[in-house]
Amino acid sequence: MPTCAPPRADARLDAIREKVLAGERLSIDDGMLLYETPDLWGVFELAGIVRNRLHPGVAYYNINRHLNYSNICALSCKFCEFYRKKGDDGAYTHDMDSIADEARKACESGATEIHVVGGLQPYLPFDYYTDLIRTIKRVAAEHGTDLHVKAFTAVEIVHLAKIAKKYKRDNRRESIRLILTELKEAGLGSLPGGGAEVFDDRVHDETHKGKIRSDEWLDVHMVAHELGLNTNSTILYGHVDNRRERLVHMEILRRAQDQALARLGYAGQEAGEETEGITAIAGIDAPVITLTRPGTPQTPTVSPRTNGRIPEPPKQSDASTSSTHSGYFQTITPLPFIPDGSELEHLPGPSGLENMRTIAIARLMLDNFPHVKAFWIMQTLPMAQIMLDAGADDIDGTVVWYDITKVGGSDTHQEVTVPVLRRAIREAGYEPVERDTLYRRVERDGNRWRVRSEP
Ligand code: SF4
Repeated sequence: MPTCAPPRADARLDAIREKVLAGERLSIDDGMLLYETPDLWGVFELAGIVRNRLHPGVAYYNINRHLNYSNICALSCKFCEFYRKKGDDGAYTHDMDSIADEARKACESGATEIHVVGGLQPYLPFDYYTDLIRTIKRVAAEHGTDLHVKAFTAVEIVHLAKIAKKYKRDNRRESIRLILTELKEAGLGSLPGGGAEVFDDRVHDETHKGKIRSDEWLDVHMVAHELGLNTNSTILYGHVDNRRERLVHMEILRRAQDQALARLGYAGQEAGEETEGITAIAGIDAPVITLTRPGTPQTPTVSPRTNGRIPEPPKQSDASTSSTHSGYFQTITPLPFIPDGSELEHLPGPSGLENMRTIAIARLMLDNFPHVKAFWIMQTLPMAQIMLDAGADDIDGTVVWYDITKVGGSDTHQEVTVPVLRRAIREAGYEPVERDTLYRRVERDGNRWRVRSEP
C-alpha cells in the first residue's frame, strides 16, 4: 500500500514553461498536453504566470444587470433550456415599458452596464431592437447617468439582418455591417460573446444545426471590430465536443484577434505553421501577436472622456461608440455545458477540475486576449473564486436576473451583491477592481460613478 500520493510533476511541461516565460505562442499539441497531463497544479501555475503578468494582484468585477428580452426562439438547440415556442408556458417578450423599467432599476442600483440577449424572436420587427437600445439610453439620461449597452450575440445580429430584410447570402459581411451600423447609431456599445459554442462543423450539426456556423460568427465580430466596437467571446464546452476541437476553437479566435491587434498597430511575428483550414475560415492575414511577450504593451482601452467630478454624469457613450477606435476581443469566457433541462440531459457535463483546466488552458492558448472570465453564474461563485488562481482575472458582475442557465436548481433571480463579490476576490488574494464594460477602472460615490482618468 503506498504511503504517499504519487508525484504529479510532469517533465513534459518544461518546454511549455519555457515558451510561457518567453511569451511565445503555444501550439495545439501543447494544448493537448496541457489537457492530458496529470500535473493539474502545474497547468494552473503556468496559467497564473500569464494572468499575473497581465493583471498583477487584481481581479475585476462590474455592476451590471442582465436583460433577456424574449425567450421565444425560432431554433431548438439541444443544449439550450432557455428557449420556448410562442404559446408555450413561460414564453415571454418584454415590451418597451418593461425594458424602461429594467433600465430604471439598473440606473438606481448604480449599474454601469446592461447586458441584453434573447432568443431568435421571429415575430418582432427590427425597429424593436433599435427602440430597445434607445429606450435604455433615454432612461439612463433621465437619471443623469449612462448605461453601456452590451447587446446581441452574433447569432442574433445575423437574425436581425434577416428580419430587417437586409441579409444577402452572397455579401453577408455587408449585411452585417448595415445592421451593426444602425444598432451602433442607436447606442449599442459592444457585443457579448455568446453563440460561438464550439467552432466545429460536426459539433454544430449534432447540437445546434440551424444556427450560424463559425465563419459567420467570426464575420460578425470582425466587422464589429472594423466599426470600432469591442466584442467578447465564449466557448460552450463539455457536451459532444472533444478537447482538440476546443483547442482549434481557441486557435481560430486568437488568429482573429491577431488581425484586430494588427489594426491597432501591434507588431508581431510571421505566423508559423498553420492549422489546416483556420486561415481560410477566418479570412485572416495577420502576424502572430501575443500580449504576453515581455515588454508588449497591454491592449489599449478606450481613453476615458469623463473626467468630470462625481456626481457629474459619465459620458461613457461618447467613448464607447467612437468611430476612430478599432475594436478587438476583450475576453474569452469558457462556459461549461450545464445538462439540466436540456435535450442533452443524459450527458454528465464537465467536472469542476475540467472547468478549472479549461480556464487555465484558455489563458495559456489565448495569449493575445487581455481577459479571461470565470462567469460565476455558470461556474458558481466558489469555483470562480478559485479560478482566479488558475488564469481568470474577472468574475463578471452583480447580474441580478439571468434566465439562460440555472445551476443546481437556481431560479431567474441570480444576484450577488458588491460586498460579496469583493469579499470573494479578496479572499482569493487579489485586490477587487470595479471595471466598466470596456475594462476601464470605475470610481464611485454610492450609485454615482465615473471612469477613472488614470489606468
Ligand atoms: S441557444 Fe440561442 S439560438 Fe439556440 S435555442 Fe437557445 S436561444 Fe435559441
